[in-house]
Amino acid sequence: MQKQTIAIDTPFARADVYGSLAVPIYNNVAFEFQDAQVMSDAFCNRIDAPDYARVENPTVTNLELRVRALTGAANVTAFNSGMAAISNALLAVAAQGKNIVTSRHLFGNTLSLIAGTLLRFGIKPRLRDLTDIAAVEAAVDDDTCCIYLEIVTNPQLEVADLRALAEVAHRRGVPLIADSTIIPFTETDLKSLGVDIEIVSSTKYISGGATSLGGLVIDYGTFPEFNKRVKYEMLFNLGAYMTPQAAYMQTLGLETLDVRYHRQAFNAAWLADALRDESRIRRVNYVGLADNPFHVLAKRQFGETAGAMLTIDLDSKEQCFAFLNRLRLVHRATNLFDNRTLAIHPASTIFGNFAPNELARMDVRQTTIRLSVGLEAPEDILADIRQALDPSTREEA
Ligand SMILES: *Cc1c(COP(=O)(O)O)cnc(C)c1O
Repeated sequence: MQKQTIAIDTPFARADVYGSLAVPIYNNVAFEFQDAQVMSDAFCNRIDAPDYARVENPTVTNLELRVRALTGAANVTAFNSGMAAISNALLAVAAQGKNIVTSRHLFGNTLSLIAGTLLRFGIKPRLRDLTDIAAVEAAVDDDTCCIYLEIVTNPQLEVADLRALAEVAHRRGVPLIADSTIIPFTETDLKSLGVDIEIVSSTKYISGGATSLGGLVIDYGTFPEFNKRVKYEMLFNLGAYMTPQAAYMQTLGLETLDVRYHRQAFNAAWLADALRDESRIRRVNYVGLADNPFHVLAKRQFGETAGAMLTIDLDSKEQCFAFLNRLRLVHRATNLFDNRTLAIHPASTIFGNFAPNELARMDVRQTTIRLSVGLEAPEDILADIRQALDPSTREEA
């Protein structure tokens, strides 16, 4: 069966008593048991039955099952944000004295989690250039607990060789953990490239229309202890499970993900190409462009589409601000893969609390605008960007 069909037609784990076609929202906390033995069996995981909604809820389980069906994963655990998924997964593999081999090219909060929060608990960051396999090899040692990366980094749009990194990780017996938020798992087969654990901020493409926060830990089962840790230790003890309301909206989002994503990726590719002709834009960065340095590797690893995020560089921060202030259709907002096109100046917002020298080391430039391309007609998005690039347009914001 094709993924679009699986996304729509994966049956409920247990049929709804009324035959509801849409997944019901179980807006509850506790579940009653027929007798004490069944209750004990449920609590001790001898049978699969929900006991308490911090750790299991039928609406959330339904989303987890659909993602499992779509990815072929051994286990999927839903958290209440992308950051909750990332922090719970890292806490499941790390311990005091261990190190995480990763890069400075990370989502801002992920970098500050690894280089700040986890460091306070004695887990050490080893920040390397993940496109330099020899440097990664030299960084990994007996205390390494994982290699962690983003499949297309934000906002640099860097792509590392997953097979090569997986080999380095597996030689040391540690997992390769990949944040795949930028290109949906319906397009890729990261397991075949050696990724052991995939993490997705389902706030982005999956929620569809920016309805809700969520995060998914997709475990391919190659490190059998991992699921025990993340599901039965982290989820239980840290309490960051997805809410049934979010799971309901994200299940609806999952059903239309394929069509939305293809339209958004098409729009992004079309825009990236068109924006190269604009004289006020110094650089268009999008891995879908044939002359992008990561194009060939991205295509080999992730297939024909290249996501719906691109960046443009103007001459200065002031020009970036003026550009943002002249936009009429495109929205000044963070978030990625909303139905609407969004624009942001990452250096002064998402990365606004990093010092200038840190920004330079992370390759976050003052001249960069990030665009998350939506579902509008691409000609309308282009027309808005063109008028906002024009210095004679009045800044209305
Ligand atoms: C947004 C994002 C996150 C964090 O997700 P939240 O759902 O906002 O917590 C993590 N990684 C990447 C690549 C993201 O874009």
